[in-house]
Amino acid sequence: MSKLTPSQSETTFAERLKFVQSAMECAANRAGRSASDITLIGVSKTVGRDAADAAYGAGLRHFGENRVQDAAAKFAAARPDGSRLHMIGQLQSNKAKLAVQVFDVIESVDRPSVIAALRSAVAGRERPFPILLQVNIAREPQKSGCAPEDVEKLVATLIAISELDLQGLMTIAPLTDDPEDVRPVFAGLRDLRDALRNTNPGLELPTLSMGMSNDFAVAIEEGATHVRVGRALFHG
Ligand SMILES: *Cc1c(COP(=O)(O)O)cnc(C)c1O
Repeated sequence: MSKLTPSQSETTFAERLKFVQSAMECAANRAGRSASDITLIGVSKTVGRDAADAAYGAGLRHFGENRVQDAAAKFAAARPDGSRLHMIGQLQSNKAKLAVQVFDVIESVDRPSVIAALRSAVAGRERPFPILLQVNIAREPQKSGCAPEDVEKLVATLIAISELDLQGLMTIAPLTDDPEDVRPVFAGLRDLRDALRNTNPGLELPTLSMGMSNDFAVAIEEGATHVRVGRALFHG
């Protein structure tokens, strides 16, 4: 890696994308993993459609948004081929219907009322709708995500619902100056996934969505399959 981080105010999106991708690659190498197994989700919540389309032009395919109505408006015009939209913010039950129309995957499923709302929102679809269960590993009181002790029961509920396809787990780590401080949070999500595999034979839960601009490298070292990066990509 280069000694200096390029001054963010002087970089283009393409340069920032390259920088993030090479940091992802370095982290994957350190962990003996292949960078191609890790998906970069560009969190476009703070930018408009133009910037999202420019990002697509530079090669980004996965986009993350945290508000259903904002995303519906931003992506009202057809999205470009092969793009995928991830819902990563807290979901209100009364937005479930719109959410499953706008998004390809909902990563922030965390309570029975939301599960029930999603189930009825996708009733009659041909294919099960992809979701992740969000877990508040660090038990931050103000953060969404279910408590770790509630995971087993929510997973049992979810796997009984054929309309929903539980693909894995998501977490948001606490904000810290040193990303090493949150390594145990990422390891905790991975351990939880491994425990669920043991107690639910046949359940793969391949997806671990964890890591943001300041800590995605540590998250990759701990097994992230999806990282959600906003500022490092979109704010030059
Ligand atoms: C905003 C957001 C991100 C991106 O955070 P950055 O620090 O800008 O990379 C990732 N995940 C969630 C859930 C977010 O709300």
